[in-house]
Amino acid sequence: MDDWHFDTRSVHAGRNQGPLQDPNEPRPDGLGTPVVPGIQPSSAYYFDSLDSLDRAFDDPTKGFVYARHGGQTGGLFGEAIADLEGADGAVAFSSGMAAVHAALLASEPSKPRGILASRDLYGATQALLTNLFAPQGIPIRLVDTTELGAVRDALGEGPRLLYVETISNPLMRLADLAVLADLAHGAGAHLIVDNTFASPYLCRPIEHGADAVVHSATKYLGGHGDLTAGVVAAQADLLPALGLVSRLVGGTLGAFDAWLALRGLRTLSLRLERQCANALALARALRDHPRIARVHYPGLGDHAQHALARRLFADRGFSGMLSFELAGAEVRQVRAFMDALNLLLPAPTMGDVYSLALYPAQASHRGLSPEQRAALGIGDNLVRISCGIESPDDIIADVLQALDAAR
Ligand code: PLP
Repeated sequence: MDDWHFDTRSVHAGRNQGPLQDPNEPRPDGLGTPVVPGIQPSSAYYFDSLDSLDRAFDDPTKGFVYARHGGQTGGLFGEAIADLEGADGAVAFSSGMAAVHAALLASEPSKPRGILASRDLYGATQALLTNLFAPQGIPIRLVDTTELGAVRDALGEGPRLLYVETISNPLMRLADLAVLADLAHGAGAHLIVDNTFASPYLCRPIEHGADAVVHSATKYLGGHGDLTAGVVAAQADLLPALGLVSRLVGGTLGAFDAWLALRGLRTLSLRLERQCANALALARALRDHPRIARVHYPGLGDHAQHALARRLFADRGFSGMLSFELAGAEVRQVRAFMDALNLLLPAPTMGDVYSLALYPAQASHRGLSPEQRAALGIGDNLVRISCGIESPDDIIADVLQALDAAR
């Protein structure tokens, strides 16, 4: 299995019946082995002897004990993501934010060794840092991580970790992961990467030197808009702390969503291939449109980080996400554009098989003032699109007719 290509592994990862069952052993009841794993919702597990229970309490690889500590179906999803991200292990969580929180805590930030993070972060992650971590006395510093000199300087203050997103939301800026990993490690810090926008199909940050990778599995990993989940894949030194946070804070992934997430993985490569192709087609259709001032998409040759995108994504695509600015548009016209969409759903999520449109000023970045948004480069005329797997012709036609309608 180890030498299978990514596309093959995503179809089969986590297929075994559980981390504790040897797939080479015949099933005890003599029945055939199911093609798909079961859903195991049990909140507790019992053992033949207290000795066995003791061993399982002491070492999670010896057995599941209690669902908050991790259950069989969530364990399979974690195994699958560890495999796909090339990590030593992974812990599944009940949401992307639970995963982000656990990954941050696992690096043990404290005073004076706090958190250095990209200033281009998903809004809730930024709010987590400033509203929950900072008031506990943990120093938080935000930098433009495309400015490597600024990152180097800030690392000089000795943070425990550097936290970045592979592709930033909504401006599609990329993190040069290999360089950032070197800088972070040189300063004795972990590099933790939110890989939600890229998915392991496009980029596997551990291969570039990251210590841990976070996903909102609600997005591309699940892919169908029908589950809420998160996961952290990490190298061995961070796994015990991640397990501890999971057990004590309790944001553990339930069996039903874990099973849906596993099923989503089976089509990850196919979905991403189509979503990336659709986004590139839409970006090209909008690039020279008179109503569009600018398209943010790393697949366009004139994107400032196009060469980095080719390196980072190994020519598998350039993301299924893009954003664009409506030329000279007031808030009223952007709202009219959003309301005129027929196919694209104006829902505050991304990464689904359905195409989605989002108005960052009203949704992901509504907590920021217009001045704060402007400082980040997020104007009130910016729209974000998550391309689904529909026909590219229908996606483009819908966006073009909505542009016409929004005068
Ligand atoms: N990270 C990124 C980049 C996201 O876009 C999101 C949600 O949109 C999250 C984390 C949080 O994920 P969830 O909504 O599953 O908690």
